[in-house]
Amino acid sequence: MTLSRLTLVGAGPGDPGLITLKGYQAIAEADVILYDALVDPEVLKHARPHAILECVGKRAGGPSWEQEAIHNRIAELAPHHEHIVRLKGGDPFVFGRGFEEVEFARTLGITVMVIPGVTSATSVPALAGIPVTHREVSRSFQVITASTNNGLLSEDLLKSTALPGTKIILMGLSKLKEIVDLYLKHFSGSLGIAILEKGSSSEQRTISGTLENIVHRAQLAQVKAPAIIIVGEVVHLLKNQTVYGS
Ligand code: SAH
Repeated sequence: MTLSRLTLVGAGPGDPGLITLKGYQAIAEADVILYDALVDPEVLKHARPHAILECVGKRAGGPSWEQEAIHNRIAELAPHHEHIVRLKGGDPFVFGRGFEEVEFARTLGITVMVIPGVTSATSVPALAGIPVTHREVSRSFQVITASTNNGLLSEDLLKSTALPGTKIILMGLSKLKEIVDLYLKHFSGSLGIAILEKGSSSEQRTISGTLENIVHRAQLAQVKAPAIIIVGEVVHLLKNQTVYGS
């Protein structure tokens, strides 16, 4: 039996330039790469010619792999391959379930290393020209998932109305109206909000407005996932000058 090791690598928000050097080193040394669907194919060109490349994420609206199926695949591959890289979007420990894979691999006696990634939570706003904090308008930010397993608005989102600071909401697009209705009960209708679609890709779009008009604007723009919703005074700092890649 080969003594296997697993490196969990953060793939960043999508742009292949936003993976760390250590991340690329691991990719270049791997015998197997298990990657998420949102990983840019350009990144995989850095793999060794005979490395096994397997997508274990959701593809073209198809079903995503169950977490358990990914664990089983790691268990199957580990005895036969020395170095497995698990490439996960953004930072694997930010709503990525990366830690579950680390724990599972450790139960098999696999040595695990973690290479953090650039999380979409802060990088996608930055690429859109929105700072998540600002000395004068926001001294904190909260990164919140909108959804829970049972499809309801998360408790953390409900409680976020009690805190100042910027709200960065992941996995929230399908609940945009519910989120806006909730915030309208607690904040002014003129509060800034933006939807940041497909951040760091050539299709990146920003749909910005206020709590009062964003639902309508999002409908007109036909926004699609992946997208981040950012709420707060910082959104008003957005000028139309930032075009990603320019
Ligand atoms: N671990 C990831 C987040 C996983 S949750 C990270 O650190 O970035 C998946 C959610 O992240 C998506 O529903 C979306 O809200 C957000 N997201 C990830 N990549 C994105 C991108 N390129 N543009 C916009 N939102 C993105």
